[in-house]
Amino acid sequence: MHRLLVEQLTRRFGSVADVPPELCGFVEAVNRAYQEADADRARLARSMEHASQEVEERYRELRREVAERARAEEALTRSAEYFRALIEHASDIITVVEPDGTVRYHSPAIERVLGYTPAQLVGTSVFAGAHPDDLSGVREFFQRVGESSGAVHSFTYRNRHRDGGWRVLELTATNLIDSPTVAGVVVNSRDVTERARTEEALRESEIRFRTVVETLGEGLIITDPHDVILYANPRVEEIYGYRPEELVGRLGYEVLMPADEVAVFSERMQRRLEGVSERYEMRSLRKDGTIGWTELHATPFLNAAGEVVGTLGAITEISERKRTEEQLAYGALHDALTGLPNRALFINRLEHALERIHRGRGTPFAVLFLDLDRFKLVNDSLGHATGDELLCAVGARLEQSLDPGDTVSRFGGDEFTILLENVASAVDASHVAERLLQALSAPFKVGAHEVFASASIGIALCAGEVQPEEALRNADAALHRAKLRGKARYEVFDREMHAAAMLRLQIETDLRGALIHDEVKLFYQPIVLLTTGRIVAFEALLRWEHPRFGMIPPGDFVPVAEETGLILPLGRWVVNEACRQLARWQRSMPRQPPLSVSVNLSARQFMHAGLVAQISRALIDNELVPGSLVLEMTESVLIEKEDTASSMLASLKELGIEIHLDDFGTGYASLAYLRRYPMDVVKIDREFVDGMEHDARKAQFVAAIIALARKLGLRVVAEGVESREQLALLRELGCDSAQGYLISPPVPADQAERLVHDDPHW
Ligand code: C2E
Ligand code: MG
Ligand code: MG
Repeated sequence: MHRLLVEQLTRRFGSVADVPPELCGFVEAVNRAYQEADADRARLARSMEHASQEVEERYRELRREVAERARAEEALTRSAEYFRALIEHASDIITVVEPDGTVRYHSPAIERVLGYTPAQLVGTSVFAGAHPDDLSGVREFFQRVGESSGAVHSFTYRNRHRDGGWRVLELTATNLIDSPTVAGVVVNSRDVTERARTEEALRESEIRFRTVVETLGEGLIITDPHDVILYANPRVEEIYGYRPEELVGRLGYEVLMPADEVAVFSERMQRRLEGVSERYEMRSLRKDGTIGWTELHATPFLNAAGEVVGTLGAITEISERKRTEEQLAYGALHDALTGLPNRALFINRLEHALERIHRGRGTPFAVLFLDLDRFKLVNDSLGHATGDELLCAVGARLEQSLDPGDTVSRFGGDEFTILLENVASAVDASHVAERLLQALSAPFKVGAHEVFASASIGIALCAGEVQPEEALRNADAALHRAKLRGKARYEVFDREMHAAAMLRLQIETDLRGALIHDEVKLFYQPIVLLTTGRIVAFEALLRWEHPRFGMIPPGDFVPVAEETGLILPLGRWVVNEACRQLARWQRSMPRQPPLSVSVNLSARQFMHAGLVAQISRALIDNELVPGSLVLEMTESVLIEKEDTASSMLASLKELGIEIHLDDFGTGYASLAYLRRYPMDVVKIDREFVDGMEHDARKAQFVAAIIALARKLGLRVVAEGVESREQLALLRELGCDSAQGYLISPPVPADQAERLVHDDPHW
């Protein structure tokens, strides 16, 4: 029985057993009810339990959901802030524009770029600030953007800044009109004013440079490291014949240079890549296939990183200059008249031949010195033009008579030099000399004239070590000898000549010191007037007392002094010394007419501009009686200086100086000179006096000269009188004066003075 029923029955009846039986049915029903209620309660409790568990579960779920949502919301907030921060701090301006152009949003960057706050511009038209010139462009741009959803477009235009200036903006616009969240055009604008300015400056500078480059006088080519032409300026067309666009993309060395330049060029290209800049000349190939010359200034072309990426070549056309240079070079080495090699080229070839011998790789050769005999006469009688023609013809004949390997040069005037290669002996060289003389022996047809041109040749063999000058000097010495022996001869340089040549060299060296060391003296040789038999004059003759060689006669050193120019100081000394001596004599031996002294004058002195002034000075300084100084000169002196001789002689005559023509009969003996120049005396050379007493022809010659001189109003002095017979004969022929060993050899001044005192009446 149910515990509660038991309790209730106990409380009421004292015990269950005391329950009236009539109630037993009822108690049983209540008991059942109790039991049923208990069962229900248990059932309910169970279901309550279940429900509460479910509620708890739902709650936890809910809390989880809430927490999650909170987290999501927080993330969302953070990301929105993040994007806002991005947009608000972006240096680019982010703008949202309504389809009609109204600005809905501007990011704060607008203020930095255009000076307006976003608030000032939101609601205005996006076109409001556009530069009038750019406005239509901006409109078109937005129209284009509006027509294509989603697409990205770019555009650059100028927009007004709040300060009134303009800013260049670069826009990138995206059409998001269809996007529900944006529903507008998103524009990203960037301030590119600075960049635009730089670009403009760059463009201007590029234009400037391009203008410079295109108008440059020089051709300009830029190539890559493989010599592919990247750029050529218009000037290049004038140089190569190609238009710039024809060259771009082609290989420089293939188009613009002859094949044989390529090897050298590739070396140069290599140097360029190593950073070397250089200037050089090279031959160029033109479009028409002709070859020219260019000067290239090639510089490595660097990129911004400083790496060599090619070559910048500045090109100057120098074909003309090269041609001139070649002509000049030819002119410098060739004789303008005959076209033969000149002295310089000859010496150069001679040097090479000697060098070959020196290096043991050469064969002996010979140097020939050839001089035309009496060429001056042709010039004088037939004119210079004929003379020139003759020289050309002679040059041509010489060339024809020689082997191709030999060199014939015009050395100067009527002198030719010849270099004979492979001549083993003097005999070989002599054969050639004979052949040359033979070739010249036939008459030359020059203009309307037939001219004979005989020559003399000096030969020097070169087998060992000699200097070029020495070889020439030797040949010249041999030529000298040949000339002395007579016409159309040749002579081979030998040991004896060698000794003479050496002596000459020595003389040349020592002569420089002779004046300083007081080694030169004047000797005087008396001249007797034949009508009275008295000494009336002296000829001053130079002597050199050489410390080693003793007394050297003037014939041995005057020519050397002439060649070296030393004759000028030497001659000056002679004039001064002779004048001093003469003045002394005029004071110590006063005579009527006064004594006179003759001084010999060489060509070089006669040509010297200071001569007149110097003589005038000497006359004044020594207070000489006018007319007592005599200058002797030979015809050759006058010939060499024909053009100025007249005026020079006139100036000398104005000083009261007598002019005596020395050595008459030995040189050209051109009577024309006697007439042309203001001579006073003819000195008959001793060659004609010597033996005249036995040789009728000589006597006749002397007689003829005396007669001629008379006619021309000239006096005659006979030189080299050695015998009384000669003296008598000369007196008979009417010769005015005589000079010679018979009377006295040249003697020192003190002895000369004694001669005057003794004066034996010749
Ligand atoms: P020259 O002017 O014809 O001088 C005459 C030469 O004949 C002198 O020779 C003289 O010594 C020589 N002589 C004179 N009488 C006789 C003679 O009877 N028989 C022989 N065999 N010879 C005689 P020197 O002194 O040797 O002079 C030679 C030449 O040197 C001169 O020839 C002259 O042309 C030149 N000379 C001399 N002194 C000077 C000078 O001061 N200046 C220049 N420029 N030349 C000079
Ligand atoms: Mg003389
Ligand atoms: Mg003489």
